[in-house]
Amino acid sequence: MRSYSRQLIENDDIEAVISALKQDILTGGATNERFENAICEYSGAKFAVTFNNATSALLAAYYVVDLKKNDEFITTPISFAATANAGLFLGARPVFCDVKPNGLIDEAQIEAKITQKTKAIVPVHYSGALANMQEIARIAAKHRLAVIEDAAHAFGSKSRANEVGSLSDMAIFSFHPVKPITTLEGGAIITNNEDLWQRLKLFRSHGIKKGELWGQDMLRLGLNFRLNDVSAALGLNQLKKLERFINARQDLALFYDEALSEIDELEPVILPSSLRSSRHIYPVIIQGGRLLAKKRDFFARLRAAGLGVQVHYKPINQMGFYKNIGYKPLEGADDFYARELSIPCHQALSRQDARTVINTLKECIRATSRD
Ligand SMILES: *Cc1c(COP(=O)(O)O)cnc(C)c1O
Repeated sequence: MRSYSRQLIENDDIEAVISALKQDILTGGATNERFENAICEYSGAKFAVTFNNATSALLAAYYVVDLKKNDEFITTPISFAATANAGLFLGARPVFCDVKPNGLIDEAQIEAKITQKTKAIVPVHYSGALANMQEIARIAAKHRLAVIEDAAHAFGSKSRANEVGSLSDMAIFSFHPVKPITTLEGGAIITNNEDLWQRLKLFRSHGIKKGELWGQDMLRLGLNFRLNDVSAALGLNQLKKLERFINARQDLALFYDEALSEIDELEPVILPSSLRSSRHIYPVIIQGGRLLAKKRDFFARLRAAGLGVQVHYKPINQMGFYKNIGYKPLEGADDFYARELSIPCHQALSRQDARTVINTLKECIRATSRD
């Protein structure tokens, strides 16, 4: 099955892990700090804090901006559930802002969602394309709100006007195997704010600060969300390859953009040429009519033909849990969910594989429209 995304682990990654396993210190050691420094260097951020996954990183970010019961935060329904769940877990209420036809939060609708209770805006850089951070930063400054970028898809994305993490309080990356680079499980937060950096580090490790000799004190509430040093060693090695991985994804994406122009039923999401996207997801949009009505058949046929297609995402506000607590549908998100299909696009996929993907799409469109 050609998955929509997957890791690429090479021999030098395996060697990096083996030598990390032979170190005296397997967690809480210097390798993790080296990985954090490398993330700073790559992203241009002043500070980086790794986590054992991006979900705990989200929880940490929400915690350190003091998101709590009766607070609200504005986010997008077209994301992985963790974006909203982590805030809900602290007792805050996610307020969903609808998306544009490209799946990104519609910045023009954010301001109308702001109330006395709003504390933060949490845009998601869906697929690796960047939300309109200039506008979001402007709105946040005007209303004195925190901005936390869920950049789980977007490690390595940049545009001329926007480096991830430069127009917000914090940005969060995920190193899950399907994401741009992997540490197996893992995540990180970048920030330019020293106070947030200190608080994130405390939250990650029980709120305990070490002192001289046996001295230590617990200063704040915290948990254990540390990334281990073996994962960090893998991350350090993978990070060296991120540009190569993105170039490979870019190549495939441009090939798909062109190939899809000849398929009436499917439309690519064309990105501005000034944007370098990580291309974590390559979404195609099913045009109206017969194929859309038969998306389930089409999807099943693609899977049977060995294409590990996926749909990103079922809107969070339409998940059973959220419906049960009273969330209502949003038109743009529902339409995007109805039409979207993610096709394989990753660094382990060859150009020949991509041709097979296009041919399989064509065959399955024909077969689906026939019966
Ligand atoms: C993957 C993902 C997360 C969660 O990342 P984990 O590292 O698996 O915890 C959060 N938000 C988005 C948008 C994601 O895609």
